[in-house]
Amino acid sequence: MRLIVQKYGGTSVGTAERIRKVAERLLETQRDDCRVVAVISAMAGVTDNLLKLAREVAPRPDEREMDLLLATGEQGASALVAMAVNALGGRAISLDGAQAGILTDRVHTKAKIANISPKQIQELLSDDYIVVVAGFQGQTPEGETTTLGRGGSDLTAIALAGAIGADACQIYTDVDGVYSCDPRVVGEAMKMEEIAYDELLELAGSGAKVMQSRAVEFAKKFGVAFEVRSSFNRNRGTLAKEETTNMEDVVIRGVSIERHQAKVTLDDVPDRPGAASRIFSAISSANILVDVIVQSASDRNTTDISFTIHEADLARAEELLAAIVEEIGATRLISHGGVAKLSVVGIGMRSHSGVAARLFDCLGQGKINIELISTSEIKITVVIAEKDADRAAQLTHKAFGLESYPRAG
Ligand code: ASP
Ligand code: MG
Repeated sequence: MRLIVQKYGGTSVGTAERIRKVAERLLETQRDDCRVVAVISAMAGVTDNLLKLAREVAPRPDEREMDLLLATGEQGASALVAMAVNALGGRAISLDGAQAGILTDRVHTKAKIANISPKQIQELLSDDYIVVVAGFQGQTPEGETTTLGRGGSDLTAIALAGAIGADACQIYTDVDGVYSCDPRVVGEAMKMEEIAYDELLELAGSGAKVMQSRAVEFAKKFGVAFEVRSSFNRNRGTLAKEETTNMEDVVIRGVSIERHQAKVTLDDVPDRPGAASRIFSAISSANILVDVIVQSASDRNTTDISFTIHEADLARAEELLAAIVEEIGATRLISHGGVAKLSVVGIGMRSHSGVAARLFDCLGQGKINIELISTSEIKITVVIAEKDADRAAQLTHKAFGLESYPRAG
């Protein structure tokens, strides 16, 4: 008998009708000679709604209470799924995070999983129950309820699959899998058959959000392969797994775009130890996330430092940096919104040369100006005007032949 963990996201359990469909699929899987653990997210919109209510009753809600509040979203959805299975003549039971044996640290609202004791789950499975676990939550050693950060049900599913040694972990969502680019932007975008954990992490970090990044990191650390697929059809999805040598034959796995970015440049920063530190500690003290950071070569004892932030943080960053420009003796601050990041990602980059040249050539031919460039071992990111983003993605997708990779079945 195979042991399967199936995780259903918010839209997959978004209505009573959808919940019945999930129940049917769980029963079908069980009839296929499988033991089944389901991990359930809150119904679509529920978590956002609870967050909104909390802020309406308290400007800065207590984090302990916040966890108790948010955990109810997943608990409700799990109970509904279990009821639906039972109503169809099956045998299911729902468990909250604590009952499922998920132990976390004490960091409310973004707890880390410390340990899982799956004894209760295993006993229920051997009694032929479909075990329905509320995602996104656990408890501290003292028995306090915690939650795992936004999107945390993915992490529950991956961690559980690892802890019980599942034969498969399926993440059901509202998209068919991981695509070579956003299909709304590039019509020829292909669903990938497989992807390496690192590629998925880089794509997620570049704005192609299919899974919580922490969950993917966890999967990588513990070698838990998982499939991202749709609960709305029967198509096979994308398998995320450890990299294999043949994965390197593909130069680029995907192209992603992240819009609504801003570029900030401090011009002629005196070339002295401590200048960068001053700039970025000010930015980080305001909890502004910084991405692409580029410092130019020193020229006449000054250098230019540029970086990107989200456009929504630009006003605050400008405010903070105005004082710092003066303090460190830079000439001026140049900043503007309306930029986007385009990234190409693939572990094949390690063994193929000329990837950067091909990307720059294709953008150059398209008369698309590159404002900043940054690279990692498996990713090249360029900052371009946001108005060019779609066209740049289309040209890049084509230049790397991504539309001709074998389609997943
Ligand atoms: N309900 C939580 C959220 O919306 C956790 C999850 O869905 O994975 O972030
Ligand atoms: Mg200069």
